[in-house]
Amino acid sequence: MIAVFLGPPGAGKGTQAAKLAAKYGTPHVSTGDMLRDAVAAGSDLGLRVRSIMDAGELVDDVTMGEVIRTRLAQPDAAGGVILDGYPRNSGQAEFLDSLLAGTSHRGVDLALQLSVPEQYLVDRLSQRRACPQCNAGYHLAYKMPSVQGVCDLCQAPLMQREDDREDVVRERLRVYQEATAPLVEYYENKGILRAIDGVGSIEAVFDRADTAMGQAVRA
Ligand code: AMP
Repeated sequence: MIAVFLGPPGAGKGTQAAKLAAKYGTPHVSTGDMLRDAVAAGSDLGLRVRSIMDAGELVDDVTMGEVIRTRLAQPDAAGGVILDGYPRNSGQAEFLDSLLAGTSHRGVDLALQLSVPEQYLVDRLSQRRACPQCNAGYHLAYKMPSVQGVCDLCQAPLMQREDDREDVVRERLRVYQEATAPLVEYYENKGILRAIDGVGSIEAVFDRADTAMGQAVRA
């Protein structure tokens, strides 16, 4: 099963993708996490993408194509993946299709769109915190760590992502509308789009995402 998540920044894609991945035993492939790891490691890739990410812009398609091609070629991806943050524009969606055409997956099976009205997003993102060590995500209202400011999993101090600052968030939302939102139609035309309401508790949204995933697995 190849599932892709669509939805604006702050819709909860990372949280829901991680929960589905745990339930279905499928790798959660977050290109944002992969790039943040590269930045933290100070690799060539990290040095190239850091300022682009901090500004809320998209990394170029050739670089991202190489990132996703390498990741999908790893053995743990052979049984399927849940993609979060890729594809981000129509060029990437077409590249993904061409990449999958040469594998046993043949194509994307499910595009899950998390719909969240814009007025919620800036608020959600500004209250988001992340562990710089293991990428675990927290939220000051919905998903507090047990000890304030400390990751439950690896005890590292939590940080606010550089690109969760309000001015960068507004740019990310603009980029989403311009480049990524058209993918909804791309996957709708393929008959594999499932839109779910992304407003509600993490568990309530998960139930909806899980139902859509379960139906796609059985189809
Ligand atoms: P995310 O964690 O998915 O919000 O991604 C954080 C940042 O990483 C984005 O704002 C982009 O700068 C970059 N990024 C992640 N995935 C992609 C992608 N598929 N294409 C281009 N840039 C990406």
